[in-house]
Amino acid sequence: MIITIDGVACECEKGEFLLQVARRNGIVIPSLCHHDSLPGQASCRVCVVEVVEQGRSRIVASCVFPVESEIQVFTNSEKVKAQRGMVLALLHKRAPDSETIAWMCRQYGAPELARVSVGKADKCILCGLCVRACAELSVGAISTVNRGVTKQIATPYHEPSTVCVGCGSCARVCPTGAIQLEDDGVRRSIWGRTFQLVRCERCGEPIGTREELELAAQKAGTEPDTLCQACRKQQMARVLADTFGD
Ligand code: SF4
Repeated sequence: MIITIDGVACECEKGEFLLQVARRNGIVIPSLCHHDSLPGQASCRVCVVEVVEQGRSRIVASCVFPVESEIQVFTNSEKVKAQRGMVLALLHKRAPDSETIAWMCRQYGAPELARVSVGKADKCILCGLCVRACAELSVGAISTVNRGVTKQIATPYHEPSTVCVGCGSCARVCPTGAIQLEDDGVRRSIWGRTFQLVRCERCGEPIGTREELELAAQKAGTEPDTLCQACRKQQMARVLADTFGD
């Protein structure tokens, strides 16, 4: 199926999400809460675009809009600019400490909303990507707590979590850098806990916390890794060479 995005003909499969089609064709649609490993979040609404179908136009979130017919898409129309600007302005109010959002506000001409106050000042936009990452990739150590303006992401009772393995997945997917992670190559601190890092037994590079390596091994039904990825690849290549020759 062919659709047009900003006048560019783009091939796509029926049911494919618009954001995915645009990115595959090199067309930039800004977004915050979209992550390729955790698609379909649709919390931030920054990825809005205008879709025109049989002469009718509407604004949709491109990350969860499946292409079903030969539509025309505009990523930068006046309607899109107005809506995206407003979304960013509100996110900036919620998370004024986020440099990413401040930059996007400047980049996409978000209006100043001096009199609107949404929540306390920090970097979190409550998109929930970190909660999903922890639940889907790891252990479900964090969740959304409270309601309204006091809503936030936290460990149970704001105490250091007993189940967190210090993998850092939550911090890696966070689009605004709201989750504090300190890693000095020896220890990693996150959510009020400090974890010792295990080193590759061959090259000495840190490969993760003992807890995350044990969890990964438990899921895979193997022993915890003792080698980093690079050394494991080299070891595998040597085994293959010894078995099948160069
Ligand atoms: S660091 Fe802890 S809270 Fe974050 S994803 Fe890993 S287990 Fe979950």
